[in-house]
Amino acid sequence: MSRDKQGELITVTGPVFGDEGKAKIVDWLAWNNPTVAAVARYQGGDNAGHTVVVGRQEYRFHYVPSGILAAQQKKLMCVLGRGMVVSLPRLFAEIQQLAQLGVEVNPSNLLISQGIHLTLPYHMALERARESGGARKDTTKKAISQTYGFAHLYQGVRAGDIVGDVRRVSQLIDEPLAWANAILTEVYGELRISKQEVMSEIEDHRRRLSPFLHNEIKFLNTCLDKGSSVICEGAQGGMLDVDLGIYPYTTASNTWPAAIQHGCGLDPRRITRQIYVVKAYLTRVGQGPLVSEIPDDDERGKIIRERGHEYGTTTGRPRRVGWFDQIIGRFGRAISPPTELAITKADVLSGLDLRVCVDYKMGGVILSIFPTSMITLQACQPIYQDFTGWDEDITGASCWDDLPSQCQNYLKKAPSCYGAPITMVGTGPERNQIILV
Ligand code: GDP
Repeated sequence: MSRDKQGELITVTGPVFGDEGKAKIVDWLAWNNPTVAAVARYQGGDNAGHTVVVGRQEYRFHYVPSGILAAQQKKLMCVLGRGMVVSLPRLFAEIQQLAQLGVEVNPSNLLISQGIHLTLPYHMALERARESGGARKDTTKKAISQTYGFAHLYQGVRAGDIVGDVRRVSQLIDEPLAWANAILTEVYGELRISKQEVMSEIEDHRRRLSPFLHNEIKFLNTCLDKGSSVICEGAQGGMLDVDLGIYPYTTASNTWPAAIQHGCGLDPRRITRQIYVVKAYLTRVGQGPLVSEIPDDDERGKIIRERGHEYGTTTGRPRRVGWFDQIIGRFGRAISPPTELAITKADVLSGLDLRVCVDYKMGGVILSIFPTSMITLQACQPIYQDFTGWDEDITGASCWDDLPSQCQNYLKKAPSCYGAPITMVGTGPERNQIILV
């Protein structure tokens, strides 16, 4: 099949610290693009918290792709790619919670890769033990990194492994369980996890899982080959990428768009639209440097947090708030330039005088490139450019010309570091509060 005839491959990712409002953009595209046949997640697990607001109803997704609302009305498959990690009890609990809200998730609209690695009780026990043993405490406590870690040590159990012969499953967990128990007891002085506990969790879910399992690589590539479009929905953000982010204050997976290759078998060279969802300011959950963080004595940080509801969807933790950072933007542009930008939450900034971080300074030297060394980064100070704000409430504005000139000026200048046109501007939390530029 000629690639000229392929459908659109659209990635929707955040290039900073996550929580940009990706779900709203994915939902919008899934509804409004008639050629979309699939919406796929390709990394992370339920450490993601994606929210779509429809009228007064808020839908929160942790595993299930944000295209699932569109999939209730149109033929569209949501896909969990093999680059994800999944806890089956938590996945089926989410499916049940969505059913209570009238959202049906079943094998006709959710495909789960056979290659997905499973989070099992010993991963959870290790995560708890590590945190109580003094390790980093700002994870979502879902054992995401434990699951990826075991996978890289060839000690993983994949979804496709557990639907077959139960004796083989039992053999498969012997070694990882022995490892986990050795670490639990020897390193942390904790209790062992029994094999029965692990097997009964698997037994409880494997039959239910079976009809969802397919080869997502074949499915997604066939969609594109036949001229249908595929949306890949990123989770977390580029600066949280385990390799390219601010290690060790990262998530455990690769988050930039190219991760669709190992995460669901799509060639990144097929991407036709690489949309970066960029918040009009910065937020960050948990530890790690945030050079443009608004200090506690500046009321504007608190106002932005409250107005923007900047509390974690998964953890409820207050997010740290910072000014828009062009150094981070230039970093994203260098490693994976977007084709377009969706800017969200400019409405939160009404009535405030604004700043944009344009460079970092260290000991009198200006750094115009994002430093990858943690030591350098911790020593950096922000250099700001001030912007006059706007007083008008722009919530629900539906066209660019309705935005005050200061707002237009801010939106043109702050994200210019990405070198891509703005095609969408969010003007409120609700699904339809969006300007198409
Ligand atoms: P995601 O993880 O990137 O999908 O983002 P979250 O779901 O964590 O957070 C996005 C929140 O911001 C959701 O509650 C959205 O409804 C809301 N949101 C998205 N875009 C906008 C916007 O332009 N303005 C406002 N005020 N809220 C928005």
